[in-house]
Amino acid sequence: MTPEDVDLIVIGSGQGGVPFAANLAEKGKRVVLFERGRLGGSCVNYGCTPSKSFLAAAHSAGRARRAGPLGIHAEVSVDFPAVMNRTRAIRDEFMSHVARWFEKAGVETVHAQAAFSGERQVTGGDRVVRAPLVVIDTGTTAAVPDIPGLASVPYLTNESFFELTSLPQCLLVMGGGYIGLELGQGMARAGSQVHIIDHNMRVLAREEMDASQALERSLSEDGVRLHLGCSVERVDAAGGALSLRLDNGERLDGDALLVALGRQPNTAALNATAGGVELDAHGTIKVDRQLRTTAQGVYAIGDVAGQPAFTHVSWEDYRRLCDIIAGGTRTRDDRVLAYTTFTEPQVARVGMTLAQAQSKGIDARAVTLPLTSVARAIEWGQTDGSYRLVVDKSNDMILGATLVGYEAGELVHVILAHMEAGSTWHVLDRSVHIHPTYAEGLPSLARLLAST
Ligand SMILES: Cc1cc2nc3c(=O)[nH]c(=O)nc-3n(C[C@H](O)[C@H](O)[C@H](O)COP(=O)(O)OP(=O)(O)OC[C@H]3O[C@@H](n4cnc5c(N)ncnc54)[C@H](O)[C@@H]3O)c2cc1C
Repeated sequence: MTPEDVDLIVIGSGQGGVPFAANLAEKGKRVVLFERGRLGGSCVNYGCTPSKSFLAAAHSAGRARRAGPLGIHAEVSVDFPAVMNRTRAIRDEFMSHVARWFEKAGVETVHAQAAFSGERQVTGGDRVVRAPLVVIDTGTTAAVPDIPGLASVPYLTNESFFELTSLPQCLLVMGGGYIGLELGQGMARAGSQVHIIDHNMRVLAREEMDASQALERSLSEDGVRLHLGCSVERVDAAGGALSLRLDNGERLDGDALLVALGRQPNTAALNATAGGVELDAHGTIKVDRQLRTTAQGVYAIGDVAGQPAFTHVSWEDYRRLCDIIAGGTRTRDDRVLAYTTFTEPQVARVGMTLAQAQSKGIDARAVTLPLTSVARAIEWGQTDGSYRLVVDKSNDMILGATLVGYEAGELVHVILAHMEAGSTWHVLDRSVHIHPTYAEGLPSLARLLAST
């Protein structure tokens, strides 16, 4: 088939690919976008949007049950089908928004899996297209390891989880990273008995020790049973029941299993070699500092390019790419990175931890303010957590923060803004924050540096 010539090909409707395609189409370019699944990618369909919609309900139930110390004794009953219907309705509306945007902008959407069939030439469905500019934004999917018995049982991943229509009595979760923890805590608060298994000795092993500990206390209060420092050796199913054999000899039984053991890049179907696009040993697309792959005119953005796996990073890649193709100087990591685990308490991170700063040879120091010292936290009965600030001793610049507590994911933007602005901790110290807010704890935190 003779290829059709267009201006831009986008493979995958991920978080950066969607605005990039729409933006160029709005400028009058002929744009073809291939999507093999639901429009809007993982975030909209299987990630952020449905998980946070689900957690809105689950955390409401959890807060109501824990309101005893405030003098509120609630009988909580969770209508799980209604929770999941609402979750799917929000997800579907977000997906429809992408479809409407593409239609209005004039993006030609091909609902098919795409693969390279030549240099800057892509084939998918009944289309073969060629363009001077190709953007790969194919994201990742749940990694499912080769554990004996796993492939033959009906396990859930983040793709099938949001299709649940009834509440499992007992949910087994493999993986104590942010996906397993958010969904595991959510299901416990919705009423399941939840077991979380992780080979690390603590949950959120990449975060600071006291963040993991605060979260473990909260999970245990929700009734979640943590099995840490062990792995699943074998999975079995019989008569609708599932059982896991752990390498410490323990056996866990449940009626549903969620696999949340990390992500793998969606590159297997791309026939990347035909397009001259090289992958690394993990299947991630190799890109340079300006998101260029090894093939001329072909760029990769988002998770599949090995960028930190967050929606806001992929979306920012779209803005970077606009600048880069216009001859600009933006690079793949020209930003202050922040992210949040949306458990309760939330664990929010921006920039570096003390250990990370020191491992880079920076002469850094850190201070920590427990939430028991924050008026708002005491008034709201949410004192389990802390705020930590890391600064460079040589110039007093703020290097990072870990905030653990109620809605810490909102609060962390205060630190992010200071870091983007290049503030020293003295600027934070002299900022007068509103009383009584959680944010009021941040100048108090900075003030600790003056006395240490
Ligand atoms: C449960 C869960 C919760 C999350 N929560 C958050 C959160 O709260 N905040 C946050 O920032 N991030 C969150 N994330 C991560 C976030 O979803 C991803 O980082 C983000 O979606 C990555 O976007 P992307 O642009 O790389 O591609 P994706 O959004 O992954 O989209 C890639 C698209 O490409 C399509 N595709 C793949 N291969 C092909 C092909 N060959 N042909 C055609 N189409 C193809 C896929 O079907 C998919 O639609 C969460 C992820 C999960 C799983």
